[in-house]
Amino acid sequence: MRSFATLSLVLIFLAFVGARADDRPLQGFAAASSSTERQWEEKFRALLSPDNQREYMRRLSAHPHHVGSSYDRSNAEWILSKVKEWGWDAQIETFEVLFPTPKERLLEMVEPTHFTAKLQEPAVAVDPTSNQQDEQLPPYNAYSIDGDVTAPLVFVNYGLPKDYEELDRLGVSVKGAIVIAKYGNSWRGIKPKVAAEHGAIGCLIYSDPADDGYAPDNVFPKGPMRPSDGVQRGSVMDFPSSSPGDPLTPGVGATKDAKRLALKDAPSLTKIPVLPISYGDAQPLLAEMIGPVAPKDWRGSLPITYHVGPGSTKVHLKVSFHWDIKTIYNVIARLPGIEQPDQWVIRGNHHDGWVNGAQDPTSGQVALLEEARALGELVKQGWRPKRTIIYCAWDGEEPMLLGSTEWAEAHDTEIQQHAVAYINSDGNGRGYVGMAGSHTLEHFMNGVIRDINDPETNLTAWQRLRFHEIAEAKDGEDRKEVRERPDLRMSALGSGSDYTAYIDHLGVASLNLGYGGEDDSGIYHSAYDDFYWYTHFSDTDFVYGRALSQTAGTAAMRLADADLLPFEFTDFADTIRLYVKQLKKLAEDGREEAIERNREIDEGLFAGTNDPRHSKVPPPGEDVPPHLNFAPLDNAADTLTMSAQRYQAAVEKAWGHGLSQLTLQDLNRKLMESERSLTTQEGLLRRPWYRHMIYAPGVYTGYAAMTVPGVREAIEQKHWDEANSEIARVSLVLDKETAVINSAIQTIEQAK
Ligand SMILES: [Zn+2]
Repeated sequence: MRSFATLSLVLIFLAFVGARADDRPLQGFAAASSSTERQWEEKFRALLSPDNQREYMRRLSAHPHHVGSSYDRSNAEWILSKVKEWGWDAQIETFEVLFPTPKERLLEMVEPTHFTAKLQEPAVAVDPTSNQQDEQLPPYNAYSIDGDVTAPLVFVNYGLPKDYEELDRLGVSVKGAIVIAKYGNSWRGIKPKVAAEHGAIGCLIYSDPADDGYAPDNVFPKGPMRPSDGVQRGSVMDFPSSSPGDPLTPGVGATKDAKRLALKDAPSLTKIPVLPISYGDAQPLLAEMIGPVAPKDWRGSLPITYHVGPGSTKVHLKVSFHWDIKTIYNVIARLPGIEQPDQWVIRGNHHDGWVNGAQDPTSGQVALLEEARALGELVKQGWRPKRTIIYCAWDGEEPMLLGSTEWAEAHDTEIQQHAVAYINSDGNGRGYVGMAGSHTLEHFMNGVIRDINDPETNLTAWQRLRFHEIAEAKDGEDRKEVRERPDLRMSALGSGSDYTAYIDHLGVASLNLGYGGEDDSGIYHSAYDDFYWYTHFSDTDFVYGRALSQTAGTAAMRLADADLLPFEFTDFADTIRLYVKQLKKLAEDGREEAIERNREIDEGLFAGTNDPRHSKVPPPGEDVPPHLNFAPLDNAADTLTMSAQRYQAAVEKAWGHGLSQLTLQDLNRKLMESERSLTTQEGLLRRPWYRHMIYAPGVYTGYAAMTVPGVREAIEQKHWDEANSEIARVSLVLDKETAVINSAIQTIEQAK
């Protein structure tokens, strides 16, 4: 069925501005289609059942279901049978990926005393799935290289670049040492990466009780927090500097016959062996350490004095892995659109877990499944989406976004031609709606969450989030902004879930949604993230599961049914101006710090304040950064802002005289290009897989978003020429975006 065969010249009246009141048409909908849409959406939201979500979770989390396990495949087949039963056109699409599993794991202290780490999570009597040890993957970090090293231990806090600057001042080097870093404050793979860059030969990562153990709350099973033997598994693949997905097939789908790199050439494996441990195993090692006492904000909650080392503590770390190729099972389900089948709204959540994975990912997966059931039910009642809706249950997210990345790479051309947007979730909990994503959809998402009821209050999810943001604002200026800005700000996407390939590699406008913020938890990536834990300590009655289904499902329906795609550019332009302001401040603060530090060195401050009993090395002097030329970015942001306002005015005016189907098709085509325009074919410097010029994961932060990454990282890494040339490159991309918006304005004006 070709979409333009059904063309008619019936005038469609458009409504703009997602005002709250129900009598105002929805953003992007003509008055008549808006009221029809509202009726279907209300039916949809009423169909969603928390109890169904509980039963799906009981099934999906009943056994460990990591990549390569029989239950992972069985879950994919069960999901397939359910979505088919609900009327979707669905199949399983497989890929063949490198997935290492542990062969040997040994950690022992060899000096000054002997201690062998347990490296096991024991069963807990009240928790019926915690004893499935035969089916569990033991604690390990995936894509660590094999290694057998013996060396003194050095404590490096969270293991970030600034922690090594502090170690330099303490006169401590990690060259030839094994480091022990705390989990948290960065994506875990940054820790071995930075350790290796400083000459370390091995890396241990442990969960300190200050962060997710007994300090915040009682430990499992009495409370939700990490018990002494609980370990966080997880991937340490260096994806931010190369790419996520299968390490042997970067940039292409990992199909059976794909050309594969040799294991030794895979760019994203770690440089040194890595092993995660519990605080039960970490405490004896840390307790024996000597050397300087750790700086105050490095200390955790163990009942010991934290020393940095190196000194008497020497450890032996040995890890080796089965470097096998495993099959992953993505479930891909379609509801074909009746007017624009070639335009796709894609929604995904992964189904694989590190162990039983009730919270991560099943709490998000069950919300997605309940949406799929309810959408199927709407179809039985006569609803048809205008555009095609594609629901995806991804496999292999935990090792590093394998299923979603391989599907994106295998279908890159079609996705770039057809995708309207990608909506992700990955786990859920009680509290406030979390939304991150493309700022061209910020206004749209504000409209969606104004229509969602918060289960614990008589407020909408939007009102509750607004109160939360006012309460949490860091100063009066921020509070004022939340109170006065019509839309709540959305955060930018970094990485850490399945949207990565869609936004960063293919330039598909993307969203990540989930509720949370009310419950602490310490079971992340452990054997205790299971049905017992979730139904005792998280969204126990699944009402926030229903809220997530309502939020993501409403967003999918609205994007699929809108007459005019609800992209909007004034919030985007406002966000760009904010980012430019932040970049200028970053550069200026760096200048001032360098000037101040050089002055302190010159005037002898460090020698003058040195404590001879706790001596510190003065920091090195540094070249004062030059002033950067931000004029091209300022100019590009200004013209973008003006075009964004003109587009908004043109659409509002068109609402008065109507637009033909043909004009709408032309406009929608341009709007779909708007996110693609923010990418470049050559991508970011040194990591060309990342093509988006506004959002990327940080090379030294991992999950946290790096906004305007080319410029920001050049400033942070003091590459001044590069900062200037990246400013020019980003400005050109913004100009390209402005041209797309101008072309849309022209289409509207010519249609009069
Ligand atoms: Zn997850």
